[in-house]
Parts: sequence; C-alpha cells; structure tokens
Amino acid sequence: LVEIRRVRKSFGAHQVLRDVSLAVPAGTVTVLLGPSGSGKSTLLRCVNHLETIDGGRIIVDGDLIGYRQAGDKAHEMTPRQIAKQRRNIGMVFQRFNLFPHMTALENVCEAPIGVVGRNKGDAKDRAMQLLERVGLGDFAGHYPAQLSGGQQQRVAIARALAMEPKLMLFDEPTSALDPELVGDVLDVMRELARDGMTMIVVTHEIGFARSVADQVVFMDGGVVVEAGDPEEVIGNPQRQRTKNFLESVM
Ligand code: ATP
Ligand code: MG
Repeated sequence: LVEIRRVRKSFGAHQVLRDVSLAVPAGTVTVLLGPSGSGKSTLLRCVNHLETIDGGRIIVDGDLIGYRQAGDKAHEMTPRQIAKQRRNIGMVFQRFNLFPHMTALENVCEAPIGVVGRNKGDAKDRAMQLLERVGLGDFAGHYPAQLSGGQQQRVAIARALAMEPKLMLFDEPTSALDPELVGDVLDVMRELARDGMTMIVVTHEIGFARSVADQVVFMDGGVVVEAGDPEEVIGNPQRQRTKNFLESVM
C-alpha cells in the first residue's frame, strides 16, 4: 500500500533523510524505531506531505504523494489536491491535538461534516460507533479537558478513523502519557491492526513492536540501518547501532 523509495530531505544544510526506502504492504503494521533526531517524525510527515521532499518518491495506494511527477519538485500538487490525498491518511501525534472547545463527539464528527460535507445525523452515528470502538462510548459529551491523556488520545484515534483512512500514521502516540494510561491506547491500536488497518507507528514500546508489527525498521542518522521481522530486528539485531539503541530503551 505504501512505497517509500529513496526519499531525501534536508533542513538547510542538515540532511535528515538520506535515501530512505521502505515498503508497507496493505493490512500490515510497520514500527519505526530509532534514537532522537534519526528522522522518524520527518519521514512520517513526508508520507502525508506535511513536509516536502527533495528527492525520491512516496506512493500511497497507487497515488504519488505531493507531486504531479516523481522527482519533479517544480510540480508540487495544489493545496486542494494535497488535502484530498491526506483524507486517505490518518495521523495521530504525540500530543493530543483535539479541539478544546468541542466535545469528544464533536471532535470526531468535525472533519466528516466540515470537510467532506457528510450528513450530520449519519456523521454523529458513525462518530458514536467509533467512540464505542475505542472504549469511550460514555464520554461522547466530555470536553478534552475532562478526559485523561489516554482518553484524549483514543478520541484522536477515533477522529482520524472518522475519515475512513486507508493508512494510519502514529507518531509516538503514547510517549506523553502516564504509564498507567499507555496500555489502553496500545490496545486500541492492536485491535485496529487486527482489523486489518495498514499502520506506520513510531514508538519506543518494544513489547508492542514485538507483538503487533509485521515489520520493524530501525533508523539512525536519516538512514534505515536494519529492517525486517520483529523477532530478527529486536530479538537478534545484526548491527551494533541497533543493539545499542535497544539496550537503551529496554
Ligand atoms: P525524536 O525521537 O526526538 O522525535 P525523530 O527521529 O522523530 O526524533 P525528527 O523529528 O524527524 O527526528 O528530526 C530529525 C532531524 O531533523 C533533527 O535533527 C531535527 O532537529 C531536524 N528537524 C526536524 N524538523 C525540522 C524543521 N522543521 N526545521 C529544521 N530542522 C528540523
Ligand atoms: Mg519524532
């Protein structure tokens, strides 16, 4: 479903992604691991064109992301075309980015009603189902400030799912949470994976990576150092850099 081919990205003189290639088949989960500054967030942001790329290409479900032609930086898509592509790609960030003045239900309905003009009643019914799916059926009328971090993060997942994305991107969705709230969020993600969602997840939760990922990718310094089966990359890393990193997080 996702093909990332030789993607390069610099911020000024600093090259953050150096020929990163990666394939994510439909219905599979890829976990991205790597030390701070290795380029994980930047790579995720490139996938929904929150960042431009300097070279290479990203294809999601057959669509070249962000550009009309691969390698043709002069022909970035229009904001409207980019927005359309992004509807297929849900993203959940480290910090809950819910609208504070809207209830959980309103947060989940906002894009279906406001962006794609879905019928209000239908959108509400669907949002309610999604809140139930993430275990928050009783919290539909609560405002973000009345929810725990873990609950807010689950609303953020429901909100992303409301647009019926083909791909979900998660950037350290549990790293800002109190430890006792992490499990509920990981459980929701685990269930989503079980239901066949294609996911790219940046996380330091090694247990999650081991039990849920189909593929683990270890990045360092803007390159993919090692990638493969979780049991190989985590259980039997070949590269010293991978070993050092895993020792630091386990
Ligand atoms: P972390 O684990 O800390 O989240 P990361 O692997 O997600 O790290 P990125 O956020 O992708 O790393 O950052 C990679 C490098 O790119 C870092 O050196 C960072 O400082 C730099 N960088 C990221 N975004 C920008 C930006 N908008 N402008 C300039 N430099 C940036
Ligand atoms: Mg990051």
